[in-house]
Amino acid sequence: MDTLSFFWDLKQQTDIELLKTEVGFAKGDAQAAAQSVLMNIVVPLEKRLDKLSLVTRAMWSLLREKTDVVESDLVRRIADLDAMDGQMDGKVTRPPMDCPNCKSMVSRKFNRCLFCGYVPPEGSPFDSV
Ligand SMILES: [Zn+2]
Repeated sequence: MDTLSFFWDLKQQTDIELLKTEVGFAKGDAQAAAQSVLMNIVVPLEKRLDKLSLVTRAMWSLLREKTDVVESDLVRRIADLDAMDGQMDGKVTRPPMDCPNCKSMVSRKFNRCLFCGYVPPEGSPFDSV
């Protein structure tokens, strides 16, 4: 092995070790970010979903017990509400509205105008869900 080859190999090995270290740091950063998303977003959402499921079951149980509504009525109503936004996709999507201040489209997802800050008054308790 001549001197040039020796130094070339040394440089290659040094570069490989440096890249291995950088990959290790990147993996650590990605794992920390995933853990943060899990703990700060997914876990709270699961808790809210569990609570919502419990409340919904309690409401359905009371409704069935106190009225003559049956499960087929519930199934039909779910389908009717699902179809209200024009898509049978298992969710209720409220259509965007025109901002009364600046006439921009306001996504009901954010429930405020992103251009001028207008906040539409709540009409129903479900408007903020
Ligand atoms: Zn606006």
